[in-house]
Amino acid sequence: HEAIALPEALFEDRANAKGLDLADEPTLAALAEALTASAAQDHRAGDPARPAQPVLNPADHRDVVGHVHAALPEDAARAAVQAAASSWQNTPAETRAAALEHAADAMEAARIPLIALLIREAGKSAANALAEVREAVDFLRYYAVHGRSLPQTATPLGPVVCISPWNFPLAIFTGQIAAALAAGNPVLAKPAPETPLVAAEAVRLLHAAGVPADALHFLPGGGDIGAALVAVPEVQGVVFTGSTATARAIQRSLAGRLNQHGQPIPLIAETGGLNAMVVDSSALAEQVVADVLASAFDSAGQRCSALRLLCLQEDVADRALTMLKAAMAELAVGNPAALATDVGPVISERARTGIAAHVAAMRAAGFPVTEMPLSAETAHGTFIAPTLIELTDPRDLKAEVFGPVLHVVRFRADEMDALIEAINASGYGLTFGLHTRIDQTVERVTSRIEAGNLYVNRNMIGAVVGVQPFGGRGLSGTGPKAGGPLYLTRFAPGAAPTLPA
Ligand code: GLU
Repeated sequence: HEAIALPEALFEDRANAKGLDLADEPTLAALAEALTASAAQDHRAGDPARPAQPVLNPADHRDVVGHVHAALPEDAARAAVQAAASSWQNTPAETRAAALEHAADAMEAARIPLIALLIREAGKSAANALAEVREAVDFLRYYAVHGRSLPQTATPLGPVVCISPWNFPLAIFTGQIAAALAAGNPVLAKPAPETPLVAAEAVRLLHAAGVPADALHFLPGGGDIGAALVAVPEVQGVVFTGSTATARAIQRSLAGRLNQHGQPIPLIAETGGLNAMVVDSSALAEQVVADVLASAFDSAGQRCSALRLLCLQEDVADRALTMLKAAMAELAVGNPAALATDVGPVISERARTGIAAHVAAMRAAGFPVTEMPLSAETAHGTFIAPTLIELTDPRDLKAEVFGPVLHVVRFRADEMDALIEAINASGYGLTFGLHTRIDQTVERVTSRIEAGNLYVNRNMIGAVVGVQPFGGRGLSGTGPKAGGPLYLTRFAPGAAPTLPA
């Protein structure tokens, strides 16, 4: 193969957003103040001419975070016509990139109030909310740099629909939009119905930074608006992060249509996973415990990268499980407005009932279940206690359970190859973790496993823009990976690297 020429600028002219010390007293005081200020505000999303619905804090339903005015299908059609007529496609790449970079600076400057809103609207822990603002800023800057260096042959697709999930309501929402805009595409953005308020803030920042209103339309609402947007004839591309089932429905809707050049309308989808971590008997037990805790319970397990199936070599399984259960008991579960919280709520009552039904069914089927206790303060929100379920076979786990529920299975050293085959057989392939101190095992396992992101001797969440491009294979997504050097090429067809025939 010829080497694919990647823009040098992606590696040279760019730095990731800086962190904040969440143990620092003045920072904690500023966050507490921002939470109070947010609570005194009625956050709003959408067109005030449409009916308002309250948005409730998942950690405490008595807390009304704000109101959303959901769009109607006719709003989707009108926005698409305006987007198609927008001059964004003919705006110089430099102007587009500069607007995204201004938005990045403004978002970074607003990180404390954004963290407060993420805590209240999405139930994020302070550390997760901070990481999310940083990731959103990184996406803006990364795609701006790439957009600026697109070749002359790159042509925008036209209006692109961006449909994002509630689990990264700022980072993935902003990332999809930034990529589409950087490549010259006007955007129709639909946030998840659970988290429209922080998304509305991102849109305000982008408009104020110089993205014209007709190039970025904000259409909050549910699946009906998503379906209406995808069906609009002006739409030339769709970016979606969410369930595999919805991705399939979008694909069916697009299947019969061709774009203005007579080509299929691209769908860039990032979906679910049945992510496994394999731990052999040479692994460092203490490190395994820390990495399993982060991988399975950080964000209350509500990441598509999260660990679902922990596979322990039987020689070390008892000891690892004892240590793991003890560490789970130390997790602070509760309202993340208390800034030391490790594990917040799950997003909704519907999510809570679904996860609880899975745990109950597994218990009824005879699998040993260990659930941490929940404190009384969680009674006003939708909480699931960190839970561990011991399986007898990796195939006992049949579907992604999007919450703080970890499944564990044991294997014998001579079963490693069969185990990898069973993991691949799920058809998903998003993240995979391996803990071993044997080089040949790293080689053998990573060359066989079919997953987008492989993590060796570390946790398996929190991919960093420009450092760990993120995306899966098989049922987990179409690619290209977000935050990587190929992502933008799908949004501007002439920019695709050409490989020899
Ligand atoms: N990029 C995130 C991570 O690496 C996961 C994204 C998602 O959950 O959709 O943890």
